[in-house]
Amino acid sequence: AAKRRGKNRVEEYDAEYARSMAARADMAAELRGAGERGELSLVYQPVLHLPDNRLVGVEALLRWRHPRLGVVRPAQFIPVAEESDLVEELGTWTLHQACHQLSAWLRAGHDLWASVNLSTRQLHLPEFPVHLAELLRVHRLPGYRLTLEVAEHRMARDIKGLSERIMAVRGMGVRVALDDFGAGYSSLAQLRSLPVDIVKIDKDLEPLADLVVQLGQRLGLEVIVEGIEQPEQLATMAAAGCQLAQGFLLGRPMPAEQLEALLEETFAHDVGQVDSGREMR
Ligand code: C2E
Ligand code: MG
Ligand code: MG
Ligand code: MG
Repeated sequence: AAKRRGKNRVEEYDAEYARSMAARADMAAELRGAGERGELSLVYQPVLHLPDNRLVGVEALLRWRHPRLGVVRPAQFIPVAEESDLVEELGTWTLHQACHQLSAWLRAGHDLWASVNLSTRQLHLPEFPVHLAELLRVHRLPGYRLTLEVAEHRMARDIKGLSERIMAVRGMGVRVALDDFGAGYSSLAQLRSLPVDIVKIDKDLEPLADLVVQLGQRLGLEVIVEGIEQPEQLATMAAAGCQLAQGFLLGRPMPAEQLEALLEETFAHDVGQVDSGREMR
C-alpha cells in the first residue's frame, strides 16, 4: 500500500509539473507579440534626491495586460520570457518605449533621467550596443539620461564578458546600475569587479546603512535605496548619507500621464504631496 501511495504521489507530482510546464508554454505563446497588440505598458516610479526632495529620475517598470488575466507582474512573466528569445522582444519594446517617453519629457523641458531594467540575456546579444546607440540617436538622447539596471544574480556567470559589455554601454555615456544588491545573491567581489556607476540597495539593509553607503562611496558608486515604505527607513538611510531613494512612501509606480502631472508641479514637493495611494493602471 505504501508503495502504491508513493507511486500516486509521484504521478500527482508529475501531473502538476506537466501542468505548470504547459502553463509556462501557454504564457510564452501569449506573450509573443504582446507589444504589437498593445498589451504592454510601462509605469514609472519616481527616484528622489533626498537632500532637497527633488524628483531626479524614474525607473520604468513593465506591465502586461493579459486579455483574460488582467495585469500580470514582471515577476510572473519575465522569468518565462528569459527562457527563450522572447526576452529580446520584450526588452526591445521596453527600451524603445522608455526612450520615446524620456525624450518627450526632455523636450517638454523636464530635467530627469530614466532607468530601464535589462535582462543579462539582452545585454549579451551581439547587436545590443549597436541597437542602443541607434536608439539614443533616433530619440536624440544624451547617454547620461539613460540608466540600465542589471540584477546581480543574473550576472553571476560571466563577469568578464559582462564587464566588457558594461564598458561598451558606458562608452556611450549610458549609466549602469547593479540592481538589488544585498537581496540574497550578494557578493562583494561582484560589486568590486563590475564596472557599474550605481548600486541599488534594498531597504532591508537599513541596519547596515552606514556601512553600505560608505562602501558605495569607497567604490566611487552612487547609491540608490529602494523599497522605502516607512518614514523611519527613509530617515535612517538619509542619516547614513544615502542621497537617492525610491519606494512606495515616495511615489508608487504610475502611468506616464500621472508622472507627468508630478513633473508639472514645478516646485520641490515634499513626501506628503506625492501620491502614495495604490498603483494606478
Ligand atoms: P526591480 O527592478 O528591483 O524593481 C522594483 C520593484 O519593487 C518593482 O516591482 C516595484 O513596483 C517594487 N517596489 C517599488 N517600491 C516599493 C516599495 O516601497 N515596497 C515594495 N514592496 N515594492 C516596491 P515590479 O514592477 O513588480 O517589478 C519586479 C521586478 O521585475 C523588477 O525589480 C525587475 O527586476 C523586473 N522588471 C520590471 N520591469 C522589467 C523590464 O522591463 N525588463 C526586465 N528584464 N525586468 C523587469
Ligand atoms: Mg530595477
Ligand atoms: Mg531593484
Ligand atoms: Mg527587486
